[in-house]
Amino acid sequence: MESDRFERVMAVMRRDVPDRVPWALWGHFPAVPFLRYYSWEKANRDGEESAKAHIALLRALDYKMDLLKVTPYYRYMACQWGSRFRFVDNQEDAETVDVVVKETADWGKLWVLDPRKELRENLRAVEILARDMGRRMPFIYTIPSPLVQALHGISTPERVYGDMKNQPDALKEGLEIITQTCIDFARACVDEGATGIFFGIGGGGQIWSRMSREQLEEYGLNYDKKILDALSHAPIRLLHICSNDQEDPQKDGGLMEEGWFKRYPVEAINWWDKSFTPAPVAKEIYGDKFCIVGGVDQRQTMLHGTPQQIEKEVKAAIEGAGKDGGFIIGPGCTLFQDTPLANYNAVARAVEKYGVYKR
Ligand SMILES: [Zn+2]
Repeated sequence: MESDRFERVMAVMRRDVPDRVPWALWGHFPAVPFLRYYSWEKANRDGEESAKAHIALLRALDYKMDLLKVTPYYRYMACQWGSRFRFVDNQEDAETVDVVVKETADWGKLWVLDPRKELRENLRAVEILARDMGRRMPFIYTIPSPLVQALHGISTPERVYGDMKNQPDALKEGLEIITQTCIDFARACVDEGATGIFFGIGGGGQIWSRMSREQLEEYGLNYDKKILDALSHAPIRLLHICSNDQEDPQKDGGLMEEGWFKRYPVEAINWWDKSFTPAPVAKEIYGDKFCIVGGVDQRQTMLHGTPQQIEKEVKAAIEGAGKDGGFIIGPGCTLFQDTPLANYNAVARAVEKYGVYKR
């Protein structure tokens, strides 16, 4: 039954035990070779292209996933404010051509984007997916945090960190406008039928290693909470704590394992658990508050491993963090575009084999 997926995911959001462990995988669809008839560049300006690519992904899989995370190009708001990026050959990374906020005074040029005007194509993707999938499959739309957007698309780390030091009020004026845009857009997504949002913090880098705890609270958490609090009626608020080889919130400040992220009003958390803070450790710390999403390594096994290695990794992840529910199998970050389709299917097969709880 298709609606089992909804109940399964809602059960883990309540940190209950579902009939089996749910799974979800996400990449920059359609920037993957096996969705060859769709365009990543077009999906950034055409909501139907984005929705169709996600539907095509679900069709391409041998098993249907339990939760669909919809992944637009993460600078979609910056594009509407006038930043420009160059898409080449369906490559997932698009080079920055120009950013809208070059000088401190440029923060004042931003305005609150209307979800039904400037962001209508993003909202149209949500509307099409809601119509197609209804309540049979939960899906969440991606919103990067205001700080991530400011650093990596609307402006640059040089500008943001310069203004944080010398012109904090101008930077805050910009962050307020980005925040209000996120609130209006996120609410519109839920109104159109999305089950919630995937809220990304730390993406693009130069955050965990560069900001003090006080700065993270003042320029990050403070705005993030406004968006998440405005969505308290949404069934799923999934927090993605992004990291890379240079920095993560455990190595830089010990935030992850002291429970700092409990301050986020969300149902679930996801991070690269093969890089820092293993899922069983996080379950001890956060398991009474959040559903844990993770267990497969997007950098190693998913990209380079065999289906057998992936099955082993999924089995171990379920044994390590799946006990008593509240756990979803997922990657530590967006899958690389060259991740083989066979490896997506291996995750699903392993969940079918090893994800059933004994009753
Ligand atoms: Zn990430």
